[in-house]
Amino acid sequence: MTHSIPIVELTLPDLRPYAEGNCGVPYVWRFESGQPGPDAMLVALTHGNELCGAIALDKLLRAGMRPKRGALTFVFANIAAALNFDPLMPEQSRYVDEDFNRVWDIATLDGPRTSTELIRARALRPIVDRADLLLDLHSMQHPTEPLALAGMQQKGREMAERIGLPATIVMDKGHTSGRRLRDYGFFDDPASSKAALLVECGQHWETSSAQVAEATVARFLAAYDIADPGPVPPPTPQRTIEVTEAITVSTDRFHFVAPYLGMEIIEQAGSIIAYDGASPIYTPYDNCVLIMPTRNLRPGLTAVRLGRLSQ
Ligand SMILES: [Zn+2]
Repeated sequence: MTHSIPIVELTLPDLRPYAEGNCGVPYVWRFESGQPGPDAMLVALTHGNELCGAIALDKLLRAGMRPKRGALTFVFANIAAALNFDPLMPEQSRYVDEDFNRVWDIATLDGPRTSTELIRARALRPIVDRADLLLDLHSMQHPTEPLALAGMQQKGREMAERIGLPATIVMDKGHTSGRRLRDYGFFDDPASSKAALLVECGQHWETSSAQVAEATVARFLAAYDIADPGPVPPPTPQRTIEVTEAITVSTDRFHFVAPYLGMEIIEQAGSIIAYDGASPIYTPYDNCVLIMPTRNLRPGLTAVRLGRLSQ
């Protein structure tokens, strides 16, 4: 399927000042308050073409934001991909060798396989291992409303509710093609208090996504009393959608029956939403919510996730 390239309203900040890092890992800046408190981590550029998080972190770093308790770490994650970002080909710099947000299985991290992204993930792992709270800032292909992806555990939902943004929380178990950073190790363990949240701030290159990233970070810092971020936007009423399944592409002839953008509610169970080769894909229940349909419809990848509104 061909499509026109979206307008790129955002500019990737100059990341060169952050290259050295201050804790032994390039593009990682860690500040300790000297006071007891949570070890908080802000992550941008998990996908190299998602600019909103980098804009938010750059602003805070340039403003000299420091924690008043605990520690605050700023991470520019897939920097190798981000440094290839070209506004004329904005979709080309998502990753170098593989999706950085699918390599966070312990077995993969500990295993022998290597790639640009795995080398970076292994370098970042000791930093992530220290985090009590991790906020990973992303954006989406389609101009969909912002989403908080809370994972499978209640603590992820509680983190989204404590931050109070965005309006829609999605509880999901990620992708069959590999584990996300937000689901790494203890973050997905209900016995651990360590929590992570992935926020999809809007369309990759729309101005609003950077505004959502900044608002989410400000609310996060204030909600956990980590730092004083200045004026903080009010919380918003929230709803939670539980993802029941992910539709994984199995043929090279997958197509949706309509140009879904995400968050459509399909009223009737048994409605056809796509064909994978000759096989129709049906909605399994009434009022099925389509979450983040992708244009990247290659075998083995997630085409769309299906969810229901939670009580
Ligand atoms: Zn992303």
